[in-house]
Amino acid sequence: MELLSIVIPCYNEEKTVPACYEAVRAVAGQLTGVSVEYLFVDDGSTDGTLSAIKALADGDKAVRWLSFSRNFGKEAALYAGMEHARGGLVAVMDADLQDPPALLPELLNAIREGYDCAAVRRVDRKGEPAIRSFCARQFYKLINKMSHTEIVDGARDFRLMTRQMVDAVLSVKEYNRFSKGIFSWVGFKTKWIETANLPRVAGESKWSFFRLLLYALDGIAAFSTAPLAIASVLGLILCGVSGLAIVFIIVRELIWRGSAYGWASLVCIILLIAGIQLFCMGILGQYLSKTYLETKKRPLYVLREQSGDGHD
Ligand code: UDP
Ligand code: MG
Repeated sequence: MELLSIVIPCYNEEKTVPACYEAVRAVAGQLTGVSVEYLFVDDGSTDGTLSAIKALADGDKAVRWLSFSRNFGKEAALYAGMEHARGGLVAVMDADLQDPPALLPELLNAIREGYDCAAVRRVDRKGEPAIRSFCARQFYKLINKMSHTEIVDGARDFRLMTRQMVDAVLSVKEYNRFSKGIFSWVGFKTKWIETANLPRVAGESKWSFFRLLLYALDGIAAFSTAPLAIASVLGLILCGVSGLAIVFIIVRELIWRGSAYGWASLVCIILLIAGIQLFCMGILGQYLSKTYLETKKRPLYVLREQSGDGHD
């Protein structure tokens, strides 16, 4: 029987962990030809998440877990989970049941049909604030214009992959991880399964608007260098404009004479150009700082504890 590892990143999910386990277990029984291992990754939770996971592990040998020394973020938790997963098939899903486990049989069928990966995307954003949906849509439009890697709008981090694809994802060791991009960058044949948006079963989303915004900017920096071209394009445009202005002033001087006035407009122009220069330097700085973090080669996460041999 093939082993299917289900990786579940959890950050302050004491209420959802047991519900998630129950829901997955109910479906796991229907999966033919595979045995399931659960791999909970406690991402430095400050509530009772780890005890909840340990309680599950005590009752079921199929439950394994990892616990980080602090909160390293969902991307790191996913990476650690995939790295420690033992299955020939690996699924990743959220702990809050926004990724319906009932789709697992369908995902598995896709792999049996010969796909390397089956992934879930939501077709609506019901239950989400309108402004958030709007910004998210604009983000996907923007990033897909700027990047050669396709970032699918509405893709959830719920997917089932073959070992070959997981190894490919693990071989991308960058520090600034943007999974949605990495899954797409490694390629392979992916089947998309669509579902409606579901609310969390309990607890709260860890992604404030501001955190999402920063994540979006990270995503753009990780998968596109287009912003770097902005400086060159703006520079060229400004050169063109100033060339026209020079011609205009020479002609005016030749015809009307004594027309060297307008220092107020000069100040505005200097301020505008200084502003544009600073903006472009800021973009450069963003890429430089990311490069700086990458060169340090820090580990993506640090483990504090993990399930013992009893669960091997
Ligand atoms: N998560 C995590 N580390 C974090 C933030 C979130 O492991 O720093 C996990 C969280 O426990 C959940 C999943 O990532 O299982 C998705 O988080 P959440 O439901 O808060 O995000 P949303 O669904 O609102 O985008
Ligand atoms: Mg969620």
